[in-house]
Amino acid sequence: MGKNAKVDDHKISMEKIVSLCKRRGFVFQSSEIYGGQNGAWDYGPLGIELKNNISRAWWKEMTQMHDNIVGLDASILMHPRTWEASGHVENFTDPLVDCKKCKSRFRADHLEAENLEKKECPDCGGELTDTRKFNLMFKTNIGPTDDNSSVIYLRPETAQGIYVNYKNIVQSSRMKIPFGIAQIGKAFRNEIVTKNFIFRTCEFEQMEMQFFVKPGDDEKWFEQWKKERWAFYEKYGIRMNKLRWHQHGPDELAHYAKDAYDIEYEFPMGFKELEGVHNRTDFDLGRHTEYSGKDLQYIDQENGNQKYIPYIVETSAGLTRNLLAFLCDAYDEEKVGDKGNADDWRTVLRFHPNIAPTMVAVLPLMKKDGLAELAKEIQAELREEFTTSYDQSGAIGKRYRRQDEVGTPFCVTVDYDSKEDDSVTLRFRDSMEQVRIPRKELISRIREEIKNYKRV
Ligand code: ATP
Repeated sequence: MGKNAKVDDHKISMEKIVSLCKRRGFVFQSSEIYGGQNGAWDYGPLGIELKNNISRAWWKEMTQMHDNIVGLDASILMHPRTWEASGHVENFTDPLVDCKKCKSRFRADHLEAENLEKKECPDCGGELTDTRKFNLMFKTNIGPTDDNSSVIYLRPETAQGIYVNYKNIVQSSRMKIPFGIAQIGKAFRNEIVTKNFIFRTCEFEQMEMQFFVKPGDDEKWFEQWKKERWAFYEKYGIRMNKLRWHQHGPDELAHYAKDAYDIEYEFPMGFKELEGVHNRTDFDLGRHTEYSGKDLQYIDQENGNQKYIPYIVETSAGLTRNLLAFLCDAYDEEKVGDKGNADDWRTVLRFHPNIAPTMVAVLPLMKKDGLAELAKEIQAELREEFTTSYDQSGAIGKRYRRQDEVGTPFCVTVDYDSKEDDSVTLRFRDSMEQVRIPRKELISRIREEIKNYKRV
């Protein structure tokens, strides 16, 4: 950024996020050396740390913090009847149109009404085909034959793995209604248009929790889960003015759903769905009862052995879409100098410490005179409890900037005084303040800072 940079140049854009992700090893295009694979992305060293931290935070909130929610890891390949029962074979379609001239593909429901009416391509003005239904499930074959009898699907959502295991879990874990089953895993959708980086991809990860309740209690639990899911984002530092609720109108509501709300985040391209909270009624277990012939009724021993098909309240979030929201929300460019050059600005990712890919960076002021050895000793003390990194190259100011750019909340600097008095400098990412503290207090001080963290 040159001398004449304006404040506007420092606004967030998707291009900046994509470029930072590639430069610093968060997210790479899949198979890039072959020209890239559309709709697929690879998570680099910092990306996988970030993704793991988000999924760990979600898992903690959903399982560790609740007595009545247990986990599951179901397989991606499921019996094909599952997808008939769920309605995906019949209904999991998007309306597709092609341009006969430039061959671009569009989702008809994403086109302007005028283009659709006139059948005119928004890109080149060419003629559009009629709208046809396109099923989003990836199909493949299992076993040595490739005829219709061996067709199998890559799951388009993790939820069905939970429904088909509902009875196993009731029986093995003696779960009593109301209770939930949580799962994190890959899902696949043959999306017609993939754009906006990792927002909409063909391979992605979901974090879903299905909560089984007594019919009649569903509305109460629906409200409760709306509250809890909203609180999750607040707890992990998302700015609340970037979130809003969107209630599904009658034309958006799935035929089985009684009520549905999306939590939307304001991405650089506008407010978009981040997570859905759905009241799915008894549709899912009802359909699996019908298609499998197995009795999936719950016997409510606390209510005189009353039998019923439970209602389900679902919370369904994209893990990879969450990662994009956490990245966009953390991204900031801040003026920190007046030299009239690029050094006046720093890029900083203001992640909540529990989300940040690296918690503490340890930096010796110099490599020589035993400072590197001392810094490594201190890093060894920290790494049992925190994710750490070590950097000894370049001026200390530049090293701080490098850590700011990847969102490391704490830097520990080891200097000549450290050798004498066993103290270190602890530097805070957000305020850039530095405090001098005894080495033996470092771990407890960082712990305390994490506990009391508030985004500025
Ligand atoms: P959309 O309307 O954006 O296609 P959806 O309403 O079909 O999404 P759900 O089926 O409710 O989405 O999936 C739950 C969550 O999974 C979404 O809120 C989103 O975070 C995530 N998700 C869905 N499809 C994708 C995708 N193609 N790429 C990345 N994440 C996705």
